[in-house]
Amino acid sequence: MSSCIFCKIISGEIPAAKIYEDDLVLAFLDIGPINFGHTLVIPKEHHESSSTIPEAVAGRMFHVGSRIGIALKRKFEYDAFNLHLADGTAAGQVVMHAHLHVVPRGVEDGFRWNWRQLAYKEGELPAFAEELAAKVAADLAKGE
Ligand code: 5GP
Ligand code: ZN
Repeated sequence: MSSCIFCKIISGEIPAAKIYEDDLVLAFLDIGPINFGHTLVIPKEHHESSSTIPEAVAGRMFHVGSRIGIALKRKFEYDAFNLHLADGTAAGQVVMHAHLHVVPRGVEDGFRWNWRQLAYKEGELPAFAEELAAKVAADLAKGE
């Protein structure tokens, strides 16, 4: 996609600090890292949403992302890493070429995900699960 900044990185039109590349995926340093070494793993083919990435490519993204997380721990003495993917603007996706963030973490790195925990109303959870499970099964059966 010609106007996409990450497609331009893949084609070499825009420079990036490449960490890993193969036939399916490219990994490069995020220009504004949460911690140093924060890396993005992207499919070489343009997909806006993670949901349209072929299973083999999505699997490679996850595998490469977690191996980069391990390498960051081993080489730079981080304690852990987060894998994060924002799918859609409301979820925080800014660059509309799907990408997996690999964020190296330290026990005292001072960064906290703003995570909240709501509570289902009494008896609401099983029905919610049933409705969602049926929708997932139907969509997967249709190949959507
Ligand atoms: P999002 O919010 O879409 O999940 O994350 C987009 C990420 O892409 C941000 O963390 C941002 O720092 C990174 N980013 C945006 N433009 C560029 C760029 O031109 N080069 C690199 N290396 N990273 C970028
Ligand atoms: Zn793209």
